[in-house]
Amino acid sequence: MTYKYIINWELSLACNLDCSFCSQKERRNINNKIPDIENIFKIIDNLHSNTHLSFLWWETLLVPNIISIFNKLEEKEITYEITTNWILLDKFLEVLTHNPSLSTGYLPTGINSFPKIREGSYNNNVILKHLTQINISIDWYGDFHDISRWKKWLFNKLKKVIPKLINIKNITISTVISPNISNENIVKLHLWLNSIWIKEHKLIYMMNFSKTDVEHSKKQIKELRIWLPGSEKLDNNVFKNNFLEKLSLLKKLNTKTKIIIEPIALFKKWKISCKQLDKQLRIDENGKLSICEFITNNFDDISKINISDAIKNNDFIEFKKLIKSKFPLDICKTCCKLYNE
Ligand code: SF4
Ligand code: SF4
Repeated sequence: MTYKYIINWELSLACNLDCSFCSQKERRNINNKIPDIENIFKIIDNLHSNTHLSFLWWETLLVPNIISIFNKLEEKEITYEITTNWILLDKFLEVLTHNPSLSTGYLPTGINSFPKIREGSYNNNVILKHLTQINISIDWYGDFHDISRWKKWLFNKLKKVIPKLINIKNITISTVISPNISNENIVKLHLWLNSIWIKEHKLIYMMNFSKTDVEHSKKQIKELRIWLPGSEKLDNNVFKNNFLEKLSLLKKLNTKTKIIIEPIALFKKWKISCKQLDKQLRIDENGKLSICEFITNNFDDISKINISDAIKNNDFIEFKKLIKSKFPLDICKTCCKLYNE
């Protein structure tokens, strides 16, 4: 079997929102630059064609020339997905439905209406055909959502855009379950997703680690670099009970929208490991091979070296081995990348 490279790529740390709960404020304050397109193209040239890219927050659609980047991936037949806060999704929808002023290359003419494909598979002839999935983060329903994101009317905008998007792309909705979201609000959100034919609703356990967890992890591995300072740790039992209560409420609704839990490993007993360490690679905002969202030690610059050579770098291999030998570090214990081996 050929090895498929699954790569999480943080193109930029820039974001068009400033959410109160954002875990990446500190990183962004240090480096908020917009990446250079030529450098991005060099990185794409150094990727294997058998790659699936996942463009992560901070806000992929904010990157200028993002359509040129997507077009370059289309040329190389590299599949990709994006995670977005959806502020720019209406603009992106215009691209996907052919607005000549925004489009180039892979945007064919003559698409005037949405294909009705809810019952079957997604339209293979659509533009940006290697864009396999759009992951949208929605943590609240209605006004609560707008308050938490410090923007008015966003949710109303979202309500207009998503039902159109689901006709042309595979859409997944992710909700971070915190004790702050009321049972009533999460039920409303889930029922709305079901009413507009969303196939999957991902419920993500809220990451919860403290300053002490960071210090312990750094004691275990002295070279470890962690951006997030950690805060006051909340009682994990309270989090778990709250999560399970909401899950059971949603399951009782018996909707067609499938519920996915991330990480399922928190609720199972067998051996846990980390998907990011075992099965995926990560490129950071500097174009360097790195470890994960929280552990930001980085290695070779992928604009200068082929990815298949970069992963043979001994420093990279040994560093990952070190983390695995101490796994789970204290900061890892509630991470959404946990999985059962
Ligand atoms: S949208 Fe995401 S990355 Fe941007 S500020 Fe909010 S939480 Fe942070
Ligand atoms: S489990 Fe640990 S190593 Fe893996 S992504 Fe989470 S914080 Fe990083």
